[in-house]
Amino acid sequence: MLAQPITVIPRVGKRKAQLGEKLELYTLRDVLFSFPRAYKDFTAVLRPDQAETGQEGLFHGRIAYLSERALTHNRRLIQARLVGNRRVLNLSWFTASYRRGYSYQYQQLAKAQELWVYGSVKAGFYGPEIVGGEFFTTMPKHHGLVPIYPLVAGITNRMRIEWIEYALKYLDQIKECLPTHLFSQFIGRRQALRAIHFPRSGTELAQARKRLVFEEFFLFQVSLGAVSRIRESVRHNPDGPLTTRFLEQMPFELTRGQLEAIADVRRDMESKGQMRRLIQGDVGCGKTVIAAYACLKAVDSGGQVAVMVPTEILARQMYDRMQTDFAPLGVKTALFIGKTSPKQREEILKKIASQEVSVVIGTHALISEQVEFGNLTLAIIDEQHRFGVRQRLALSDKGNADLLVMSATPIPRSLALTLYGDLNTTIIRELPAGRKPVDTRLIHPRQRDDVYRFVVQRVKQGEQAFVVFPLVEESDKLDARAAIQEMEYLSKNQLAQARVGLVHGQMGKAKDQIMQDFYEGKLDVLVSTTVIEVGMNVLTATVMVIENADRFGLAQLHQLRGRVGRTRKQAYCFLIADPKSELARKRLEIIRHTNDGLRIAEEDLKLRGPGDLLGTRQSGEPWFNLADLVRDQALLEQARREAQQLIRTDPGLEQHPDLRAEIKRQQPQTAAVSGRGETGGRIEPN
Ligand code: ADP
Ligand code: MG
Repeated sequence: MLAQPITVIPRVGKRKAQLGEKLELYTLRDVLFSFPRAYKDFTAVLRPDQAETGQEGLFHGRIAYLSERALTHNRRLIQARLVGNRRVLNLSWFTASYRRGYSYQYQQLAKAQELWVYGSVKAGFYGPEIVGGEFFTTMPKHHGLVPIYPLVAGITNRMRIEWIEYALKYLDQIKECLPTHLFSQFIGRRQALRAIHFPRSGTELAQARKRLVFEEFFLFQVSLGAVSRIRESVRHNPDGPLTTRFLEQMPFELTRGQLEAIADVRRDMESKGQMRRLIQGDVGCGKTVIAAYACLKAVDSGGQVAVMVPTEILARQMYDRMQTDFAPLGVKTALFIGKTSPKQREEILKKIASQEVSVVIGTHALISEQVEFGNLTLAIIDEQHRFGVRQRLALSDKGNADLLVMSATPIPRSLALTLYGDLNTTIIRELPAGRKPVDTRLIHPRQRDDVYRFVVQRVKQGEQAFVVFPLVEESDKLDARAAIQEMEYLSKNQLAQARVGLVHGQMGKAKDQIMQDFYEGKLDVLVSTTVIEVGMNVLTATVMVIENADRFGLAQLHQLRGRVGRTRKQAYCFLIADPKSELARKRLEIIRHTNDGLRIAEEDLKLRGPGDLLGTRQSGEPWFNLADLVRDQALLEQARREAQQLIRTDPGLEQHPDLRAEIKRQQPQTAAVSGRGETGGRIEPN
């Protein structure tokens, strides 16, 4: 029954079902597992004298004053006073009304002597105030905590509550999925599902939430664990002629972290089990060397390599770098991106299938069905957080290959466990010797011109600069136009003496060419609204100017700054801002004082929440319904321990059929086992 479409619910027809799809509600089960985003607390009825700023609740009193006036032809302001215990709580509502005379709302209020109002209390000019509260002219029938659900136009909270009430009738079809030894620590699954929707008290809600959060983490971790267990892959040969030559001819001394990473990769690749390794290291630490080593090791053993990066420009850069390194060694490389013309495509595909090329570098176009490798033994994914679990599996599945993932985004432990729970991690902690920290300065907008004078000076020395403007919502046309105008002004005035390229999100494909020109040194300054490609490696760029720096997140600022200072030359980062809030100021101070990406990421997580840090909108990463990676870290770690324990004792989940069934059901979400299927089209270029 729970697998039935929501149209089985009374009064849910085709139209409502379509709206339900927008909320990802397809079946009764979805309804049950779509949790409230908040609750209204109707457990207590408060008096006006109990109102405190910031508090949300149900207030009851007498109506002492009521008025309505028109603000515009269709907007009205209703004001009232709620009195109780000789204190006043001011109430106001803005309402749209086209009718003559009083609005409907006003008429309702006018009939009432006493009133119940639910809302949050603000500090108003004349004392405590509730704006736009939900009101009842008789004692509301709700009890306890009333769930509030995510909605779309056409679906009301009331409807969603009715749907849940209906779905709960089939609660007995829900099976317990946790191992029995955990029963004493968590409430049962059915009990938790009922309580998360209709908790009778705060305590009950907390218990339900704890149980369900643990379950989310646990199922996710078990499914990841189950993947890493079953796989075997080719055993690569000990270092051969290519790898040896590459390491011998290295133009610089490898850092300790790089040497360790190479040792880990060597061990993993030579073993029979599938390599699943994450190399995590701050921007500029030199991860590409590790990738190159791994490529050559695969080729030495007669295999092929697929290198996947998130955008075309990065693919082209990576291709350039690898070709430069590999061509002298006689290793054939190819570039495969969405733009490749059909004819060339055909040709490259043939060469990939016949093993004529050994290393193929590309975007997620590489995952598409048509790409068939002769003998893929290694898949490398750079700047991983933009790809989902699904995508990395889809790539390595093309040959049951070893998997090497590289991430420049330093990730706090809680996130690493979650997103990369199936990967072993090597962290490169140091930067190559001789690198100077980027000189980072906070600049008041008044001093902007000085910054640009400095930029022009550097440019005359043959160096390059980035200028970044924030554009919070790419879709905001007004905002975009303003930014573009400002950029144009800048290029004609302060930067008139430099060759300037402008890049913004609404340019489409033309922007690739400009970035390419900048990369090749045909432009001195790259001014952009979009965030510059995460992995862009332009060695002569020494200055990063960030306009309205307070509008960027910490991790973003750190990434941007990482675009400069990639050689021994001193680099500069100017944060132009006049931060108004304490939070904004704090952020900028953190960036100014530390270069430690991990610390910055941790602060960022605290200040912003995990969704923002990862840019979940782009990543398509499976996410949790209920769990909060900051708040629920302890549960996450416990879930991981329990999951590992379970996989060790019952790898096939044979003794846990209900758990196995549950994981299978969730596969579209965690995509643990097959990984094939939905691959292309989910990653948006910058
Ligand atoms: P990232 O880890 O951000 O991908 P890259 O691999 O792009 O960093 O390396 C950044 C720059 O540092 C490259 O130009 C690379 O050639 C150089 N590099 C890498 N390792 C070393 C090293 N051990 N010593 C000096 N320069 C290095
Ligand atoms: Mg890189």
